[in-house]
Amino acid sequence: MTTSASAAPASASLNGGRSASGRCFNFGAGPSVLPEPVIRQIQEDVWNYKGSGMGVLEISHRAKHYDQIVAEVDKDIREIGSIPANYKVLFMTGGATGQNWIVPANLLPKGGSADYIITGGWAEASFKDATQYCQCHNPGAKIHQAATSKDKGHNYIPADDAIAYSASPAYVHMTTNNTLYGTQWHRVPKVPAGVPIVADASSDIFSYPIDVTKYGVIYGGAQKNMGTTGATFIIIRDDLIEKANKDIPRMCQYGVFAKEESRPNTPPHFAIYTVGLMAKWIKSQGGLAALKKANEEKAGLIYAALDECSGFWAGHARKEDRSMMNITFRAKGGEALDEAFLKLAKENGCDGLKGHRSTGGMRASTYNAFPREGCKVLADLIRDFAKKNG
Ligand code: PMP
Repeated sequence: MTTSASAAPASASLNGGRSASGRCFNFGAGPSVLPEPVIRQIQEDVWNYKGSGMGVLEISHRAKHYDQIVAEVDKDIREIGSIPANYKVLFMTGGATGQNWIVPANLLPKGGSADYIITGGWAEASFKDATQYCQCHNPGAKIHQAATSKDKGHNYIPADDAIAYSASPAYVHMTTNNTLYGTQWHRVPKVPAGVPIVADASSDIFSYPIDVTKYGVIYGGAQKNMGTTGATFIIIRDDLIEKANKDIPRMCQYGVFAKEESRPNTPPHFAIYTVGLMAKWIKSQGGLAALKKANEEKAGLIYAALDECSGFWAGHARKEDRSMMNITFRAKGGEALDEAFLKLAKENGCDGLKGHRSTGGMRASTYNAFPREGCKVLADLIRDFAKKNG
């Protein structure tokens, strides 16, 4: 795989904002942009994977080529994430949403409790699904809301002293980056000693160096920073696998996936293979420290333009809690201006900017593979539009 820059328009003025190849700046929140070298490699491997005479979409999950994919993904993910030997990297299906049930099913003892920190729509969904899980399958267990940022439209991350943990939770659940509202934890919460943190890191996994040892479980869908849809990654400490409940369906048990290399049945092998290519691409970019720097610079270009025109634009997130992945903003003058901006942006090659249906306005997602040039184009549009319409 070569390591050149991401596939994107060379100039926003080309061809209605498209490059000669017809590609745009894809600000979509996920599934989202992939690096050009990854796409090119997939194109090759879809036809004939490593001389096997079969495409990667067609090989068996029991074939030796797939054995090699599994081994390499594991090795490369461990290397980029500095994942200690006492953690497993698993792949399941069902997305992060599937984990809303799978986490309490595995980790919550009968009649136990778990604490949830609610910082956005996805965190809220995790809380609600866990509550429903307990009502159906673990009556007597308690899902406790330890904190919520709902009072201010989820525009901030709660301080440690605003989080009220229950007496002895089995785990604390948090969402590291709030994709809908554009806030991100820039610290690890101080949880009671010995209580594992279970983190939904769907929208910022491997976008910065993460100290895995601070967490018991880190999970998420791969479709934003680590590839395409279909594979749910779970990085989990061995002791949690060992003590996980065994009286739940086999296809929900972390232990089964750990024992069977994430293939107790036919896995989403194309998605897992794509995670492997992303891991290699991340290595080629200099690893997570280099990506953190690049991601901060990219988001910084857009935030700087919004701050310069703060009379015209309103950012959703409190400054210190701003996400480096999802930048959420709206025109102070109302929705008609948002619509006009989205139209202009699209004409200039910037697509996928419409905010989530629950928040409206604009959301620029600038994940690992998103090119810096696209952030510059958007920042210029933000300035020009404010000047002309302010
Ligand atoms: N959590 C977060 C933080 C997300 O951003 C998303 C999807 N955007 C989800 C959970 C749900 O993920 P999935 O669609 O993979 O179930």
